[in-house]
Amino acid sequence: MQRVLVVEDSKVVQQVLRHLTAQYLDVAVDFAWSLNECQDYIEKHKYSLALVDLTLPDAPNGEVAKFTLSHAIPTVVLTSKIDEYKRQQMLELGVIDYVIKDNRDSYHYAIKLVAQLLRNQGCKALVADDSMLSRSLMKQMLEKQLFDVTDAQDGQQALEIIKSNPNIKLLMTDYAMPLMDGFELVKAVRNFRGRDDLAIIGLSGAGKHGLSARFIKYGANDFLTKPFMNEEFHCRVMQTMEQLSLIADIKESAYRDYLTGMYNRRYFYQYAEQLLKKQQQNTLALLDIDFFKNINDTLGHEAGDQALKQVATLIKTTFSKFTVARVGGEEFAIILDDIDTARGREYLEGFRKKLAKHEFLIDEKPFSITISIGVADFQNTDLTQAMRIADAALYEAKNNGRNCVV
Ligand code: GH3
Ligand code: MG
Ligand code: MG
Repeated sequence: MQRVLVVEDSKVVQQVLRHLTAQYLDVAVDFAWSLNECQDYIEKHKYSLALVDLTLPDAPNGEVAKFTLSHAIPTVVLTSKIDEYKRQQMLELGVIDYVIKDNRDSYHYAIKLVAQLLRNQGCKALVADDSMLSRSLMKQMLEKQLFDVTDAQDGQQALEIIKSNPNIKLLMTDYAMPLMDGFELVKAVRNFRGRDDLAIIGLSGAGKHGLSARFIKYGANDFLTKPFMNEEFHCRVMQTMEQLSLIADIKESAYRDYLTGMYNRRYFYQYAEQLLKKQQQNTLALLDIDFFKNINDTLGHEAGDQALKQVATLIKTTFSKFTVARVGGEEFAIILDDIDTARGREYLEGFRKKLAKHEFLIDEKPFSITISIGVADFQNTDLTQAMRIADAALYEAKNNGRNCVV
């Protein structure tokens, strides 16, 4: 589990940071007021990252950043002002970045930066450049941003590395390289890795302005012109990686049901279509809560939502090895992958009984719920046909008095 340490002596600023970390970070965060307290925390825990104020009453000259860095904790600095001397000093110290505290948005920036750095941790990046100097410089800079970096000295080598490492998430490529240039590399990579899946930043020498735009046309996400400043490199990489993760979040939420966090109908259909291509026996089940409308009518819609969430949780935990989804209001679907219908039916019968005995809590009061289940074979068929059969079985289960499997 990743853990972050924030050191800040201003009450107001700490409050803002507490609010923002709760909103944007999904990890444990500790807050210290002073260098002294920071030392105590570091004795107790292992930190993935520190966000520290440069001037504290007991550490007026950046001692806290020196301290966290001396414990090998990647560190981002908060500072109220910065001059060129201080900037150089901090970069030499090895801090990842500094954030100037001059408006509310800078705290936002700092926390989003921390969030992105946490995501970078362990994320694979590749640098392709024929100049050894430039290659090792970029490698260093990316490592500072916590990437796990590999390098290649020409386009062909880079292409091979990407082909055999599907988990590379960022490619920084120079234009002029032997064997295969940057454009050819980008074109070739885009044949099998999309823009949303692998970020590419193209690099070109100064005075070759047309090149940067062409990088984008061939499928790069962004470009940089050499020579670049540390900050420029840093911001471009951060921004590109942030876009990638935002797209991943949007994609993920398009496949999720908001209320229960389960997969939704869209995901379920895509998954089911893919599964049908495999030569194996599967079981499809449709589950529908009995007399659910009564819960809404007697206890209110909010109580109905509570019931749905609890039923969803029970389904998810019971069938954790399988794909489950909420496919309608109070209707769920399960595919028992590689399970024939006879065994599938047994599983579902077991679950029906378990759910009927389960004590649900609605508005903190115990409550019973039952479900009806329709089961169908799920192989050598098409999805619509299988859904129709399961639905007909479900209808029959309802007609047979509910709380049963057909
Ligand atoms: P049956 O046993 O025949 O399935 O009866 P039922 O009452 O469960 O079925 P019916 O289809 O008549 O009613 C389903 C109700 O589910 C109607 C709808 O308002 C409610 N519902 C659908 N989605 C939600 C939701 O997200 N939250 C809540 N609270 N209710 C929902
Ligand atoms: Mg129902
Ligand atoms: Mg229904």
